[in-house]
Amino acid sequence: MDIHEYQAKELLSNFGVTVPQGGLAYSPEQAVYRAQEIGGTAWVVKAQIHSGGRGKVGGVKVCQNAEEVRTTAANLLGRRLVTHQTGPRGKLVHRLYIEAATEIEREIYLGLVLDRRMERLVVIASPDGGMDIEEISAKRPEHIVRKAIEPAVGMQAFEARELAFKLGVDKTLISQAVSTLLGCYRAFRDLDAIMVEINPLVVTRDGRLLALDAKMSFDDNALFRRPNISELRDKSQEDEREMRATDRGLNYIGLEGNIGCIINGAGLAMATMDMVKHAGGEPANFLDIGGGASPERVSKAFRLVLDDPKVEAILVNIFAGINRCDWVAEGIVQAVSEIDIKIPVVVRLSGTNVEKGKKIIKQSRVSCIMADDLEDAANKVIVAWRKHTGLAGK
Ligand code: GDP
Ligand code: MN
Repeated sequence: MDIHEYQAKELLSNFGVTVPQGGLAYSPEQAVYRAQEIGGTAWVVKAQIHSGGRGKVGGVKVCQNAEEVRTTAANLLGRRLVTHQTGPRGKLVHRLYIEAATEIEREIYLGLVLDRRMERLVVIASPDGGMDIEEISAKRPEHIVRKAIEPAVGMQAFEARELAFKLGVDKTLISQAVSTLLGCYRAFRDLDAIMVEINPLVVTRDGRLLALDAKMSFDDNALFRRPNISELRDKSQEDEREMRATDRGLNYIGLEGNIGCIINGAGLAMATMDMVKHAGGEPANFLDIGGGASPERVSKAFRLVLDDPKVEAILVNIFAGINRCDWVAEGIVQAVSEIDIKIPVVVRLSGTNVEKGKKIIKQSRVSCIMADDLEDAANKVIVAWRKHTGLAGK
């Protein structure tokens, strides 16, 4: 789960990371009020969306007076911002964060991520902040500093100091840099984060170290024990299809194609998506309905897949181990007859009670195309989809 910049800043400041003074606004009037509350002569109006790259598309603007704050706020609120991270639909701006503007001397990149291969938390940093880490690694890979943290002892002060020196932090700011690094590390560990990014971490003209931007992501599987984190969820920033799936306990990831996939098991789902591509189609989603799929669950899965208007054919691929093909078949029959599905449905069943399952579908007279194995299923769904959409022969 991702959270907003202002939320990440609040969490990190509780761990000793220094951030500019700021306040949240839901309207242009509130934005002006916040600026006055903060005081000073310049402010930054920042669109709060779950994405980086806001600066490049007008989502971050330095303002010199109250009128500018007002017009910038009015212009951003209610707009969809499209960045290189949001996908073409962009993300809706509902909230703004107003901050005291900072005079920047230097920008540093600081990231903490989980390296699954090393089974370690890794600090990735670079003296060339301001650009994305992708850009830094393309342009100045030799400037990137990496440091894996030993989990048994955690990040040590001397390691933080070493990192700060490698980033070229001035002697007078070393202890602040150490607090920032240790603070980020502790926040990561204590809050079950999977990513913390401060880009840029800046040295100000008046010689302070400030986190000018902050991003955090959390482990969904740990949210149950972090109520203070899970309440920061902002559903308006999530893919609607995935949000509906999460709410129904299904493991779903929306994609751009038009072949809907209903599958049990993540591995089989991946293999099926590969086969759909191999057969000349594009999957519309990844969907793992899980082990003990009841007819109700299968029916829910159909509704979810069909909620996506791009879906023009459905492939159901079940290998029943814990599952039973007859249950799944009942779910398919229930879904197809209730929902009045107008697109082709190809079904491949295998494993426990497969004959019983096939019989249920046959006797129900719902119109499903049956397939024998994975390859056959992928080919049949593509043929049926082409026929359905008038692409046959192309
Ligand atoms: P992002 O584009 O979504 O990563 O948003 P950031 O919060 O990182 O802001 C983008 C860029 O705007 C930063 O890299 C800075 O260069 C600039 N910026 C942000 N806040 C300030 C500020 O207070 N003063 C100045 N001068 N520039 C700022
Ligand atoms: Mn940034």
